[in-house]
Amino acid sequence: MKFIDTHAHLDFPEFKNDLDQVIETAFEKGVEKIINIGCSLERSKKSLEIAEKHKNVWASVGVHPSDVENFDIKTLEEIYLFAKYKKVVAIGEVGLDYFHKNAESDVQKKVFIEQMKIANELSKPVVVHTREAGSDMLEVLRKERPKNAVIHCFSETQDFADEVLAMGYFLSFTGIITYPKAEEIRQVVANTPLERIMLETDCPFLAPQAFRGERNEPAYVVEIAKKIAEIKEVGLDEVARVTTENAEIFFGV
Ligand SMILES: [Zn+2]
Repeated sequence: MKFIDTHAHLDFPEFKNDLDQVIETAFEKGVEKIINIGCSLERSKKSLEIAEKHKNVWASVGVHPSDVENFDIKTLEEIYLFAKYKKVVAIGEVGLDYFHKNAESDVQKKVFIEQMKIANELSKPVVVHTREAGSDMLEVLRKERPKNAVIHCFSETQDFADEVLAMGYFLSFTGIITYPKAEEIRQVVANTPLERIMLETDCPFLAPQAFRGERNEPAYVVEIAKKIAEIKEVGLDEVARVTTENAEIFFGV
């Protein structure tokens, strides 16, 4: 069985001492490919460096809504230059975060839209972060209509999921679905066709229940697949096959 971790942050300091080993372990456990996600200009650069060094690791580049404070035209130009690299397969994570609200919603929207335009120009998909910004997020997506998009670390409502799926986009789920309190999100998993689901760890954060409190890593993506198989009452091999195919087509890897 093969799995793809579509959302890792291997550039974070948590992996500083054993990055090569972490990637090796993931491949040994059946994780065939990893998409490493940028969340600031500096981290996007590191993300690209990791992808250039490792055969089955790809990068996405972008500035996270909690990091837009110093975003200017120069930042945008650099993101555009990074985005043209062959190993950069998406723009993200970008979006709206009204929970942390490090910047006003107007500023967040502007930065999100500008980066989405790069994605559309280069025909790359968008990895979307959204937190407590449901209606604004839907409004922006409806207006800008990115070519393809995934709502990462899905933790919104069923209504939100329905709208996103109706636009033809994807949902990706993290270890949150293994937590006892996440019944509502498990319901969304149950109601979402496997053909629209991707797997992600969002490591080093959100370790699945079996490893909760520890550093998360791409090898644990298998735990999320197991939970989806359980919720949907299908074989793990089917979850592996369909979600891997979804990710391969979505990111072109
Ligand atoms: Zn993330």
